[in-house]
Amino acid sequence: MSTDVEVLTRCQDTHQLFKIVFKQQDAGTWAAYRVLVPRVQSRAEAAGAGHTTPSGLHVTGMVGTDPTYKGCPFCPSKSFWTCGTCQEFNCWDERLDVVCAWCTHAGRVVGKIDHLRGQAPSAGGPTSRRVPSPPSPPSQRLSTPNLPKLPPRR
Ligand SMILES: [Zn+2]
Ligand SMILES: [Zn+2]
Repeated sequence: MSTDVEVLTRCQDTHQLFKIVFKQQDAGTWAAYRVLVPRVQSRAEAAGAGHTTPSGLHVTGMVGTDPTYKGCPFCPSKSFWTCGTCQEFNCWDERLDVVCAWCTHAGRVVGKIDHLRGQAPSAGGPTSRRVPSPPSPPSQRLSTPNLPKLPPRR
């Protein structure tokens, strides 16, 4: 049983915070499969600071979405990308020209996400609403294996 990784994400459209929860599918393959919506729209609260020491997780591998992933809870975007300048995640409507909701870095996304920086789930934490998800077969493939990143500001 592998550990989920939760990555704090900002909606590119509304700038609201949520967490994408990734599970490991095979060795080195991480699939987004659900989201958590923090009750408080503050970055520290949403990240889990203050109640338990969040265990920082840094994993590498192929990153994509599971077929069960519903996308951003605040807008219709079904994907996400990561900013090369601030390393944060934004939801993504699959337009190539993007603006980072965290640091306002703008540009064109390229390549693919090859690592995640997040935290282990905070069991029973007060800031997140946890919705049980149905078990899925372990051999499911990523439905979108090539989510992009925005090159860092030069
Ligand atoms: Zn969104
Ligand atoms: Zn950024």
